[in-house]
Amino acid sequence: MLKNKTAIVTGGTRGIGFAVVKKFLENGAKVALFGSRKETVDKALEELSKEGKEYEVMGLYPDLGDPGQVTAAFDEVIGKWGRLDILVNNAGISARDSIYDYKPEDFKNIIDLNLNSVFISSQAAARIMKPQGGGVIINTSSMVSLYGQAAGSGYPASKFAVNGLTRSLARELGKDNIRVNAVAPGVTRTDMVAALPEQVIKPIMDSIPLRRIGEPEEVADAFLFLASDMASYITGEILSVDGAAMS
Ligand code: NAD
Repeated sequence: MLKNKTAIVTGGTRGIGFAVVKKFLENGAKVALFGSRKETVDKALEELSKEGKEYEVMGLYPDLGDPGQVTAAFDEVIGKWGRLDILVNNAGISARDSIYDYKPEDFKNIIDLNLNSVFISSQAAARIMKPQGGGVIINTSSMVSLYGQAAGSGYPASKFAVNGLTRSLARELGKDNIRVNAVAPGVTRTDMVAALPEQVIKPIMDSIPLRRIGEPEEVADAFLFLASDMASYITGEILSVDGAAMS
């Protein structure tokens, strides 16, 4: 579904991002996975090499908050493969802090990565995609971007803003043939979820109509669809993949 396409996936070293990287590679794309550190990037590349497939994959670890480093990393990808068709803005961190003792610097950190870095990477991608005739940007939102959550308000606030950025950039970039969408996963089996206490997870699972949490591969399928030409007339959409958790 992605033959001859080139993609960048931020937060591609594990969890949902790693599942997206694998799904894109399996579907013929060349993929640059971005992580926060050399060690985790190398580990992800090593895991992919063990599959014994002829994947075209590279790994980089720019500071996503630094426009200069992000542009340099994108340039490296262009230098190697010549174009950029798909950007997945997936890197993100979560929080459960109560408003009563939430540190302003922690609130700022979450907005910096979950929102500001999405803006920085999207800007770098749009500057490449417009002159080449188009492209696709997909952001990782969250089910809490639609309903909020009862603790750690910085996280849903960042994801509400990601939805706003998604819908706005879709309107702005449509004329340049750049589609911009988001995937809003529900509770998905990754390290981020493994770190949550049982008393947080259990009531959520009980309330999900499908009575289970999602698998990263199920979320990655939504990214594959939106990245592919099957979604050629879809832009500005926030696609929930959450078992109807909060609908
Ligand atoms: P994860 O913790 O397993 O992976 C996070 C990824 O982000 C890693 O690749 C990590 O290297 C990268 N990352 C973290 N901090 C970074 C930084 N400062 N700079 C660069 N990269 C950094 O998380 P996940 O559950 O796979 O989450 C991925 C995305 O999905 C996030 O945006 C998250 O908000 C969203 N999400 C997750 C769930 C869930 O249930 N797991 C639900 C809804 C949305």
